[in-house]
Amino acid sequence: MLNFFGHEKQWQLLQKSVKSGKLSHAYLFSGKSQLAKREVAKEFIGLLSCQSKSFENKPCQQCQSCQEMKKGCHPDLLWLEAKEETGESEIGSIRNLANWLHLKPGLGKHRLAVVNQIQSFSLPAQSALLKTLEEPKGEAILILISDYPEFLLDTIISRVQEIKFHCLSDKRIIDFLLSKNVDPKLAKRISCLSLGKPLKALSLLDSGQMKSEEKRIMAFKRMLKKDLVFSFKEIEKTVEEKETLLSGLETWLNVLRIIFLERIGVIKEDIMDREEQIALPNLKNLMISLEKANYLLMKTNANKRLILENSILELY
Ligand SMILES: [Zn+2]
Repeated sequence: MLNFFGHEKQWQLLQKSVKSGKLSHAYLFSGKSQLAKREVAKEFIGLLSCQSKSFENKPCQQCQSCQEMKKGCHPDLLWLEAKEETGESEIGSIRNLANWLHLKPGLGKHRLAVVNQIQSFSLPAQSALLKTLEEPKGEAILILISDYPEFLLDTIISRVQEIKFHCLSDKRIIDFLLSKNVDPKLAKRISCLSLGKPLKALSLLDSGQMKSEEKRIMAFKRMLKKDLVFSFKEIEKTVEEKETLLSGLETWLNVLRIIFLERIGVIKEDIMDREEQIALPNLKNLMISLEKANYLLMKTNANKRLILENSILELY
């Protein structure tokens, strides 16, 4: 069972709607990355599809539906992930999903479809999805997930029930970690590195994950010391790791944010070991440039390596 820390309200709302039967035909789970939108969607699907007679038992993990869900081959669930390639095949996938949703459910009451990271789909593909949203059929339920809902068509937003996922305050993350008997110094560091994201805070409790995050931070700090050869090699490595490229970039931005806050006195502790050699304007320009890079990497097929190399040159 998922740890709902930080997302209790969203979960209660979804639970209530299943219990009362007042369901929307389409939901949008929106909010920054690592806010457990995907995980909550999976639990919601479990709740919607479980065949147990007692609501309190759902998802029971025992019924045929729960078993099929566990095996990842439930006949009433279609899960679509954003892919790198775009164009006709993408529109085709959305049209298939729309047709599939209109079929009768095989096991349970609902036909369920999820589109993860819908903002990564092209505008024509998003438009193709609109038709499904305009003509909901039967008991089908569509769940859209997006880290960047600001890139979605307004016409999509207006036709779905949006469930917003929020970042938590540092204090809430620290209090949670302290309640788990985490050392106060470590709790403070985790809260700083997790940016208010409960899932990230939980993952950093794992020493292996914490180690790789610290390694990433160390490497970035070396880049900030204007070691250009190292910087370019590190960028090459970061770009190759497609899966973690955006989370890597997020770590970089977070390091800069913390240094910036330390420098202007908002953060009193020395969390990132002050990088005195970076002039404040360079720091600001690098932050702006990496924010832009984040957008370009997500929305375009521009040369990732070149974008990041240009950003790092803001230090010089
Ligand atoms: Zn069940």
